[in-house]
Amino acid sequence: MFEKSKLAFAEASRYIPGGVDSPVRAFGSVGGTPPFIERGEGAYLFDIDGNRYIDFVQSWGPLIFGHCDKDIEEAVIETAKKGLSFGAPTELETELAKEIVTLFDSIDKVRFVNSGTEAVMSALRLARGFTGKNDIVKFAGCYHGHSDSLLVQAGSGAATFGTPSSPGVPEDLTKHTLLATYNDLESVKKCFQESGDIACVIIEPIAGNMGLVPASEEFLEGLRELCNEHGALLIFDEVMSGFRATLTGAQGITQVKPDLVTLGKVIGGGMPVGAFGGRIDIMERLSPEGPVYQAGTLSGNPVAMAAGLASLRKLKHNPAIYVELGKKAKRLMKGFKAAADAEEIPLVTEVRGSMFGYFFSDKEVKNFDDALSSDTETFAKFHSGMLRRGIYLACSAFETGFISTAMTDEMIEEAIIAAYETMREIRG
Ligand SMILES: *Cc1c(COP(=O)(O)O)cnc(C)c1O
Repeated sequence: MFEKSKLAFAEASRYIPGGVDSPVRAFGSVGGTPPFIERGEGAYLFDIDGNRYIDFVQSWGPLIFGHCDKDIEEAVIETAKKGLSFGAPTELETELAKEIVTLFDSIDKVRFVNSGTEAVMSALRLARGFTGKNDIVKFAGCYHGHSDSLLVQAGSGAATFGTPSSPGVPEDLTKHTLLATYNDLESVKKCFQESGDIACVIIEPIAGNMGLVPASEEFLEGLRELCNEHGALLIFDEVMSGFRATLTGAQGITQVKPDLVTLGKVIGGGMPVGAFGGRIDIMERLSPEGPVYQAGTLSGNPVAMAAGLASLRKLKHNPAIYVELGKKAKRLMKGFKAAADAEEIPLVTEVRGSMFGYFFSDKEVKNFDDALSSDTETFAKFHSGMLRRGIYLACSAFETGFISTAMTDEMIEEAIIAAYETMREIRG
């Protein structure tokens, strides 16, 4: 059923390293070759062999309204007709910035970039420039994009390929990156004992790149206190969870306020966009207002802004969307769990808004080590069985799944039935 895709993958691999432009897409951890996509429509993906899938990946998060949403499509087409890029200010940027600043208590000003990687890289520079300190604390299993100093124990892609850090990254750079354990405050205290030069602590407040692993409220409160005590900034990387877990991401769930926030994925509605924002006294340090340099030829691209604006406005005007998406996510996870139980296969599940995750494990997953101890072989079998049954799930045990507004209860039911069949097949 994947003949054309297999040929396309072989052809792609002749010209593109590994045949893909982002490693996890290559199916390395689940085996086989990836379906090549022809088009999307609502909740469905269609590959070049004519297979149809219910898409629980949604371009790894951005497509909260599914594929080809009419409002986003129209905004993109209308804007594109006026020119693709100017390298000069447009009102669209202000409009999108206003929406974000109004929604997030923690954001007084925001700057747009082209990817999540860029957003985080820039936020770190700003944190270092603002505090005059050099070290950063990150958590094992959290992914913050592929910039040099953050490519240390970086979850999904890196974990999947067994290269926790990468050749080409000088130790001189990563020596400034201190590694702590997710949901373990003591490990962060240790970092502050070891270094008096910590500029910031960066965290995915709802980790989505080691599978779905939320931070506990006490843990986030503890981080806030430690940062205050030591004059370090707290950065929430909400590139994935922003507009996904709730309208305001993790910040719709926790009482803890970060100093800086990074966004991406959903704010671009499927176009390449990232953003970072935060407290006014910090953001004012950014050039041209302040001395910390940051720039981008295509940043704030009008077509991308228009797509983001259309998405965010739809979300803002229909806050009940998150309740509906959350219900479907819970129903799906309950179904997967029941299917696993029926075959006595250990499975634990998690849901945050439209985000869902599952580990083939018999214990609760609280950090990266727990995630790594889950059964990835069974995951690979499950992934492949589901794919054959038309259910498109993330191709790594350390990724998060997503529900879109285009998904119906019938589709969730179809996925659950496929899960029962697949679990039975695995049990043999
Ligand atoms: C996806 C992601 C990034 C990187 O964003 P890109 O657009 O892929 O560069 C950074 N942080 C988190 C939490 C992410 O999920």
